[in-house]
Amino acid sequence: SYASVVDILEGKIPVDETVTVRGWVRTRRDSKAGISFINVHDGSCFEAVQAVVPAELPNYSNEVQKLTTGCSVAITGVVVPSQGQGQSFELQATKVHVYGWVEDPDTYPMAPKRHSMEYLREYAHLRPRTNITGAVMRVRNTLSQAIHRFFHENGYLWVSTPIITTSDCEGAGEMFRVSTLDLLNVPKTDKGDVDFSQDFFGKEAFLTVSGQLNVESYACSLSKVYTFGPTFRAENSNTSRHLSEFWMVEPELAFASLDDVADLAEDMLKYVFKAVLQERPDDMEFFAKRINSEAVSRLEAIVNSNFVHMDYTDAIEILKGCGKKFEYPVEWGVDLQSEHERYLAEEHVGAPIILKNYPRDIKAFYMRQNEDGKTVAAMDVLAPGIGEIIGGSAREERLDILDKRIEEMNLPMEEYEFYRDLRRYGTVPHAGFGLGFERLVAYVTGVQNIRDVIPFPRAPKSAEF
Ligand code: ATP
Ligand code: MG
Ligand code: MG
Ligand code: MG
Repeated sequence: SYASVVDILEGKIPVDETVTVRGWVRTRRDSKAGISFINVHDGSCFEAVQAVVPAELPNYSNEVQKLTTGCSVAITGVVVPSQGQGQSFELQATKVHVYGWVEDPDTYPMAPKRHSMEYLREYAHLRPRTNITGAVMRVRNTLSQAIHRFFHENGYLWVSTPIITTSDCEGAGEMFRVSTLDLLNVPKTDKGDVDFSQDFFGKEAFLTVSGQLNVESYACSLSKVYTFGPTFRAENSNTSRHLSEFWMVEPELAFASLDDVADLAEDMLKYVFKAVLQERPDDMEFFAKRINSEAVSRLEAIVNSNFVHMDYTDAIEILKGCGKKFEYPVEWGVDLQSEHERYLAEEHVGAPIILKNYPRDIKAFYMRQNEDGKTVAAMDVLAPGIGEIIGGSAREERLDILDKRIEEMNLPMEEYEFYRDLRRYGTVPHAGFGLGFERLVAYVTGVQNIRDVIPFPRAPKSAEF
């Protein structure tokens, strides 16, 4: 029968049983005693399983001894307790079948040497086979499964929101256009320009920047919902924390205040951190060795402590008084830059913090206005090493105040009809947030560039197209 590497190493296959493991050679070492040690990995866990191959096998000298890193194989053998250090079980091989050889093993960059992340991004074939990408993808998978599990266990319904949309959620103008236009025969305006208002079967259409407005309408009838899907931003941000295509988790909760969703964010983050610590200890150990020696201990510390809450106004005072020279100076009313966010989380607190009650004028129209007339009930969760990972708010549920804001900001009133209807018919206080999923993966793994925590990065000037 077939077994995956993780099943063998975790002792799920009884000793003395014969199994076949299929995967790729990580390393081969020949001993003078006439046996070879072949490490095979299949992605099921960080480690590779060691197969001990005796010289008696019929293809020993013409195949086994020619195996190089990256060759694909099926190795049949008996499961035995491992003699070597660190590994629990290994295979006493009785048969080695080679599926595929590696062309030019001397020059092909599959050698077990360490490549830079930039280099790997240019090799869509090599990148997934590296230890680091394997570890990132397993942790990413655990995080997404844990997020769904967290919401499911807490009574939230997963609502999928559309990818093709007509309106720009925040009026920030950072959308990719979707077009059905026949490029050889595009409709023109009176002035002779391309008439984009016709581009999606006679309407304008864009890729979604956020599912929030859509998911609000389901929260205002199903009470507890979330969406988890791809979102797109046509911002020309060449930073290590922005992608053109990224995934967002957006819970929305009826009958809730800002503090309710701040607590929800804290509970959710602790839940998923615990899941990673429990389910991916090997991968996390690897990140601790390779990237940040505190990769594991800092998650453990967060799980066992309470998040610090801080008001925007107090944060400005801290930043002004801290004596640090920032590239962008701060004063009350400015939007915080990543350098400020990182200072607060990394140096001032040393853990993720929840920053609340931002100035109204730097925030979106739908955020609920506070009594002071100057701030809105908005929050960001800021993480050390990365800055904002979550942005959320209480939503303005009072139609008159919402309308006034839409007018003040010169947004097209007619596009928000359904949104305004939610306030006309049985309006309720409600709140929610958006978690940038790749920022979460980058934070948990410690990987520096967000492009390296998504299978196929899409970003301005990215090498991957
Ligand atoms: P930033 O200030 O970092 O540009 P934002 O305030 O513009 O982020 P929001 O509109 O609040 O972002 O989106 C919600 C969350 O989505 C953010 O907290 C962040 O985690 C994530 N996010 C936003 N833009 C991007 C992007 N271009 N690539 C990856 N994640 C993003
Ligand atoms: Mg932004
Ligand atoms: Mg922001
Ligand atoms: Mg934000």
